[in-house]
Amino acid sequence: MAHKKVLIIGGGVAGLSAALELEQLGIGVDLVEKTGFLGGHAIQYACKATDQCVKCGACVVEEKLKAVSGNPDIRVFLNSQIINMAKTDGRSAITLRCQPTYIDPHKCTDCGQCYIQCPGEGAIEQGFSSNNHPLYALYADKCLHFTEQNCHICEDICPEKAIHLNMQSDEHIREADAIIVAIGFKAFDPVDKPYGWQVFDNVITNLELERILRRQSDAIRPSDGQIARRIAFIQCVGSRDATLNHLWCSKVCCGSALRMARVIKARHPESDISFFYMDVQNFGKDFEIFYAAVQDDVRMVRSLPGDIYPTSDDCLRVICFDQHERQSVEQVSDLVVLSVGIKPGSDFGELTDTLKLKSELTGFFSVSQPEQGIFTTGAATGPMAIDDAIASAGQAVWQTVQYLKI
Ligand SMILES: Cc1cc2nc3c(=O)[nH]c(=O)nc-3n(C[C@H](O)[C@H](O)[C@H](O)COP(=O)(O)OP(=O)(O)OC[C@H]3O[C@@H](n4cnc5c(N)ncnc54)[C@H](O)[C@@H]3O)c2cc1C
Ligand code: SF4
Ligand code: SF4
Ligand code: SF4
Repeated sequence: MAHKKVLIIGGGVAGLSAALELEQLGIGVDLVEKTGFLGGHAIQYACKATDQCVKCGACVVEEKLKAVSGNPDIRVFLNSQIINMAKTDGRSAITLRCQPTYIDPHKCTDCGQCYIQCPGEGAIEQGFSSNNHPLYALYADKCLHFTEQNCHICEDICPEKAIHLNMQSDEHIREADAIIVAIGFKAFDPVDKPYGWQVFDNVITNLELERILRRQSDAIRPSDGQIARRIAFIQCVGSRDATLNHLWCSKVCCGSALRMARVIKARHPESDISFFYMDVQNFGKDFEIFYAAVQDDVRMVRSLPGDIYPTSDDCLRVICFDQHERQSVEQVSDLVVLSVGIKPGSDFGELTDTLKLKSELTGFFSVSQPEQGIFTTGAATGPMAIDDAIASAGQAVWQTVQYLKI
């Protein structure tokens, strides 16, 4: 059995989960991740427990990341992408292009000096989990050493001499008996919606709020670093939107936003939180109990705002028509959170061509193509929550095992 090998594309929770299950079955695994970190979107999420766990799934992702990171039988390729696939006698020869990581993991101690002193915006990113080592990733397209040829601060100041800016990209050919595609999703970009994202500092997305809560525990306003007391969540931004031809529901945003609202309220009971929505999606088996409880904490407004205006004191005025109460509602908030939806991943088209895959009209991958030994899983197949992504990875592994006849 050990001679069988599977290559997994995408190191989010679905890819991590599939890698662990395959490894436990004695199947060799190559895990290819295009960024400098494993964990995908969900490793950026905060725990939303109040007085009890609300089953958001964030800690499960952390556990899987830890298990993969310490596993010598799962070979991880970071900063890497598939550029070609050729098939002979049922085996695939897959060409990977691996961009340099620049930071030597054997020397780096995660001290963070490079990140703190780097003058290039976004050139060095800090990861969200200490189970990702190094905790920092250097991206050449934003690094002044490569874009302006005038910086090598990090290389000079690193106390461990762990940074090597002269590292070159590499190509590897890896053989595999089957491929699992777990490239996940892309969050909807709300720049074209009339809500002032990237115009007003204190209009952020749900993904940005997840990151803020993960790093800082409180809902901090980007404009002044103060804790936001009045918060408006606007649902379905980029989902169920006929003007964009995005007719699907993103399924996870209602649950995610309401859990964030509750944890904020639990930490700061004086918070004033409004939730503007079309209708609330059921998100799990304890949904009804959770939903009944949340209504004590959050003002539910069944309407989506038209526009958002700035006020003279650096706040935001949200105006909409409340269908239920049949009246206009005006709300002044310190922070507006746009619950952006889930879209097909940005590499969807390229990967479809490279692997010769079929896709659905929505742009998500169809369930799997077993005749070719290619199986798709996780949010690459459509919007889903963490537990569903893990279940879907289990299904892809089961299909892979059937295909490999082991
Ligand atoms: C704002 C928000 C909040 C959410 N909150 C919750 C929550 O509280 N609870 C919950 O259960 N679910 C939540 N979800 C859903 C959750 O994010 C997904 O279920 C989960 O991330 C799906 O995991 P995945 O591995 O399929 O995809 P992803 O997390 O998107 O991971 C895909 C990985 O593949 C990599 N990749 C992409 N293209 C390539 C390529 N060409 N080559 C190599 N690697 C590639 C990406 O870099 C990424 O690491 C939320 C979603 C959003 C948008
Ligand atoms: S991360 Fe989510 S699932 Fe885990 S303890 Fe916290 S609330 Fe519960
Ligand atoms: S300065 Fe060096 S040791 Fe410190 S985090 Fe950066 S690469 Fe690692
Ligand atoms: S070379 Fe300069 S810009 Fe590039 S990562 Fe290092 S410190 Fe940042």
